[in-house]
Amino acid sequence: MTMRRDYYKVLGVLRNATDEEIKKAFRKLAFQYHPDRNGQKGAEEKFKEINEAYQVLSDPEKRTTYDRYGQVSAESWHGFDFGGLGDIFESFFGGAATAGQRVPRKGADLQTSLEISFEEAFFGCDKEIGIKRTENCPSCHGIGSQPGINPQRCPNCNGSGQVRRVQRSIFGRFIHVATCPRCSGEGTIITHPCSQCKGAGRERIKRKLTVNIPAGVDEGYELCLSGGGEVGTHGGLSGDLYITLSVTPHKFLKREGVNILCELPINFAQAALGDEVEVPTLDGKVTVRIPPAIESGTVLWLKGRGAPHLNSRKCGDQLITVRVVTPRSLNEKQRRLFTELAETLPRARQASEEVEEVVT
Ligand SMILES: [Zn+2]
Ligand SMILES: [Zn+2]
Repeated sequence: MTMRRDYYKVLGVLRNATDEEIKKAFRKLAFQYHPDRNGQKGAEEKFKEINEAYQVLSDPEKRTTYDRYGQVSAESWHGFDFGGLGDIFESFFGGAATAGQRVPRKGADLQTSLEISFEEAFFGCDKEIGIKRTENCPSCHGIGSQPGINPQRCPNCNGSGQVRRVQRSIFGRFIHVATCPRCSGEGTIITHPCSQCKGAGRERIKRKLTVNIPAGVDEGYELCLSGGGEVGTHGGLSGDLYITLSVTPHKFLKREGVNILCELPINFAQAALGDEVEVPTLDGKVTVRIPPAIESGTVLWLKGRGAPHLNSRKCGDQLITVRVVTPRSLNEKQRRLFTELAETLPRARQASEEVEEVVT
């Protein structure tokens, strides 16, 4: 036998590792590199190496020899017993790998989208949506058998749902536990399939569901309808239904979080003198006072006129941005009045210079 690798490094343990630590490290690596689960190149070689290292380090006598001489003689190597590995693998791979065919499993989640109006997002609403999902067959209630005729125990696996195969190799005895091909792990076979679902026990069904949309939702909001997804298997819970909302834009209102934004076009006279105007909100029209001498771009706040905070009674605000509109054309009278007005107003001589105060 040639010089071996450092067994401690192979298992990734310290030289003073306890038996328990060695065993733990071995199990972890063996699980990772078992050729049945790890199809990567070199996995089998690595697996062989891990086994070798474990056989030496788990045996106090061989470990002492290895520690002292850095290798194990051919004779002592010859006497290794790989047979004991089988038990480890059985308890380890067997259980986790295939148990579970009949374990209750939650159904898959479903995802859909729903378009609602700006107002519906603001006030909340009940909406009907159509989905297609897998449900238990209403005729056989998910069993797959004709009503009144029970499924039979599978003769191939005797009802366990698993078949075992023992494989012997130079690395030891492996017990492969596989899903029974006859019953697909169910442990039972259906002799008289339900006529509605042909024995599947499940069906794709179109459903109409009413969804309650809370007030204050916004574009991209995701609703979760617990249990609205695909039916579970073997008594598992149904999956959930996720609904992503999209909101149709409003003609002149915009949303920014809980605040509603809008623009208010006013003319020169309103900007200079101030005014009272009606502004639309989602709750109806509201009279807003424009203070005199307002600049274009000034934002007026309507407290509490925004969208509601989700799950709260508080509301955002409506923000009104004032835009002073320059007239595109003037009639005779307007032109005359503007000319008269212009004579009384200061004129900017240069962009950089301060405007002169008009003395009246
Ligand atoms: Zn059925
Ligand atoms: Zn079977």
